[in-house]
Amino acid sequence: MPKSTDLDEPRGAKDYADRVALHRGWVVNPDSGLTQPILEGLSSQARRFGRPFCPCRDIEEGQNNQDIVCPCRYAAEDISQYGQCYCGLFLSRGKDPETVGSIPERRPDDR
Ligand code: SF4
Repeated sequence: MPKSTDLDEPRGAKDYADRVALHRGWVVNPDSGLTQPILEGLSSQARRFGRPFCPCRDIEEGQNNQDIVCPCRYAAEDISQYGQCYCGLFLSRGKDPETVGSIPERRPDDR
């Protein structure tokens, strides 16, 4: 698990994303215009909650949100099916970044 100190700044979040992508066989979306707000969001979540919760989803107070600590529990299936994670931060190796868009939410309501 990442240490929050690694992620307190977007630069650290980018390093973290690079490590995750390398480890999982994904790539970080090269579209910095799209990824910069996501990386800033991950840093913000790490500063606020101590964990890099997905910045594209709502943190539900009092709920178990461990499924959306980045990389979330749903990323592998989304990347396998759509070539991208829900936020679009991580892509499959063959995914054209210009085709990144909105995909269905895989996270169940009754987790
Ligand atoms: S969708 Fe999942 S893998 Fe993508 S940025 Fe959010 S938590 Fe990370």
